[in-house]
Amino acid sequence: MDRLRSDGAARIPFSVEFSPPRDEAGEARLWRAVREFEQLQPAFVSMTYGAGGSTRDRTVRVTGQIAEETTLLPVAHLTAVSHSVDELRSMVGSYADRGISNILVLRGDPPGDPLGDWEKHPDGVEYADELVTLVRELGDFHVGVASFPEGHYRALNLEQDTRVLVNKLRAGAEYSITQMFFDVDDYLRLRDRVVAFDPEQGAKPIVPEIMPITSLRTVRRALALSGSALPKALDDRFTTAAGTGPEEDRAAVREVGIELATQIGERLIAEGAPALHFITLNFAKATREVLTNLGLCAARV
Ligand SMILES: Cc1cc2nc3c(=O)[nH]c(=O)nc-3n(C[C@H](O)[C@H](O)[C@H](O)COP(=O)(O)OP(=O)(O)OC[C@H]3O[C@@H](n4cnc5c(N)ncnc54)[C@H](O)[C@@H]3O)c2cc1C
Repeated sequence: MDRLRSDGAARIPFSVEFSPPRDEAGEARLWRAVREFEQLQPAFVSMTYGAGGSTRDRTVRVTGQIAEETTLLPVAHLTAVSHSVDELRSMVGSYADRGISNILVLRGDPPGDPLGDWEKHPDGVEYADELVTLVRELGDFHVGVASFPEGHYRALNLEQDTRVLVNKLRAGAEYSITQMFFDVDDYLRLRDRVVAFDPEQGAKPIVPEIMPITSLRTVRRALALSGSALPKALDDRFTTAAGTGPEEDRAAVREVGIELATQIGERLIAEGAPALHFITLNFAKATREVLTNLGLCAARV
């Protein structure tokens, strides 16, 4: 994707991730965030892909509306979960019909218990690289994939994890977006591993994902669902900020979260990351604050 390549501009690009709204109130909130981010000119906005029919219909519709009614470039996530190859083809067709040509291809996790055993749909695909091949065969799509600075929780070791990422890139993915992480050295080591494994694929952008934490409960849950956790020192810091009351002190947690996301962003920029990708949970405020701290928020020329 061209927008991830620095064109010598003073500021590196950033992108943001939205999640599919569950109901009309959620959809209204999403649109407020969409319009706020539109002012800030992200390189692209991505929309995650969840389980469940009605959410999926809404995801396709809303992502299509972003393509048609805003100046933003949408990237639609697509997972192989519970889909036959025919259904996957039809999903890709639905996106194409709505003018969406950028797809983040993922295998997804088992529905119900994401950490449970993965069972391929009898007529589906087993791994994400097969889905990359499928999508690329279906038309002129720009494909991204997932990468894992700490290694995917099901990977045997970091070497196998690197091989899996390189296979997805060789299958035709143009870039990857990482899972969120807290130690920038993990990101730098991933980048080095991919370059060492395959210099050609190593030249493709690995876009680091940052979540400005505003709720300790939410981040703990999100990390647990992906087989990860906050490092102990950070968990302690957030726990202290959250306080001992029946409800966590959201303002104090938020302050630590913004500071942490800013520090991670600063180091990534200094280390030459190609772009920064932010998990927004469909709210603009925290991400905008981090972007401002990083000097990425000012009007672009
Ligand atoms: C940026 C980002 C966005 C995401 N968006 C979504 C989303 O919208 N919806 C959602 O449900 N999930 C999403 N996820 C989560 C993702 O679906 C899970 O992390 C999933 O467990 C792995 O997906 P993958 O595409 O990396 O799978 P794969 O690359 O297929 O890897 C899955 C596992 O299989 C192993 N593996 C792969 N190929 C082989 C092989 N040939 N032989 C043996 N083992 C192999 C890998 O090591 C890994 O352990 C996202 C993750 C990231 C990082």
